[in-house]
Amino acid sequence: MLDLIIIGAGPAGLSAAIYAARARLNTVIIEQNYVNGGQIMDTYEVDNYPGLPGISGMELSEKLAEHVERFGVEVQNACVEDLDLTGDIKKVVTDEGVFEARAVIIASGAIHSHLGVDGEERLAGMGVSYCATCDGAFYRNKEAAVIGGGNVAVEDAIFLARGCSKVYVVHRRDELRADRILQEQLLKLPNVEMVWNSNLKSVNGDKKVESITVVNKLDQSEQEIPLSGCFIAVGIEPRSAFARNHIATDEKGYIIADETGVTNVPGVFAAGDVRTKQLRQVVTAVADGANAVTSVQRYLLEK
Ligand SMILES: Cc1cc2nc3c(=O)[nH]c(=O)nc-3n(C[C@H](O)[C@H](O)[C@H](O)COP(=O)(O)OP(=O)(O)OC[C@H]3O[C@@H](n4cnc5c(N)ncnc54)[C@H](O)[C@@H]3O)c2cc1C
Repeated sequence: MLDLIIIGAGPAGLSAAIYAARARLNTVIIEQNYVNGGQIMDTYEVDNYPGLPGISGMELSEKLAEHVERFGVEVQNACVEDLDLTGDIKKVVTDEGVFEARAVIIASGAIHSHLGVDGEERLAGMGVSYCATCDGAFYRNKEAAVIGGGNVAVEDAIFLARGCSKVYVVHRRDELRADRILQEQLLKLPNVEMVWNSNLKSVNGDKKVESITVVNKLDQSEQEIPLSGCFIAVGIEPRSAFARNHIATDEKGYIIADETGVTNVPGVFAAGDVRTKQLRQVVTAVADGANAVTSVQRYLLEK
């Protein structure tokens, strides 16, 4: 019988695996991708992970995966579809069969919504970004745009305006959805220009972003805005669909847990981007993985 199943081999799951192996827990990671590392593989450069400035996302994921390999933790390639958490033995239902363990850590992460416009995928990491906290520093003294009108978009724009020479906020309505206090902060910044009632049509550039084209919804006029960075902030979704009928989540689907990872279901823990938290980054995900294993150990000792 396994002591622990970890769902997801992103930074949170891989960090949990290292701590679990060192705690001598009999552990399996279940990961749907053929390559381990999670979202961080999608980023060109990670410049805010302490001790490894400027490391590429791919290299950081490889280092994390190699670290786990050194401890011999098995990774099963399968997609988790459902859970049965009713008994002391937790069942994890996948497209490759059912796995059982005494405890489960859910570290299935989150996914940033894409718009699917021309140039977006091609220039991702070359000026198109989904994370201002991660990539904002690369646009110091340059012009950038934020696409979106909710809290994340407005927070991103305020953050970017501290370093960028100018920030355009492209929003499809004539008023923002963000909290009033954030709107007030944004609208008084001298280097922010609102582009109201407009949709992003394309991101343009050969090897890196050189401009964006937006379409005004009211008169269908098109405008090309020269800039270097296009931050798409139209939403982020937790990958928790398989868990939602079995565990408490907030209204957006994030599993409710603090930094201990403890959820409302005994023996089931949540770590990384999939849980309710303030900051979704590698540094917080790896901390969560370590903390969740400490909680697993306590839980198993008390059983
Ligand atoms: C473009 C981009 C750039 C970023 N840049 C930075 C940066 O510079 N610095 C920084 O600190 N953070 C950055 N981030 C954020 C960082 O990548 C995340 O905070 C971090 O990866 C979260 O780790 P996680 O392990 O919680 O989740 P994830 O990285 O999302 O990993 C979750 C894993 O679970 C797997 N999984 C999901 N569902 C299932 C299922 N049903 N069955 C099996 N497996 C499943 C996924 O395939 C994935 O491998 C960036 C994110 C993006 C998208």
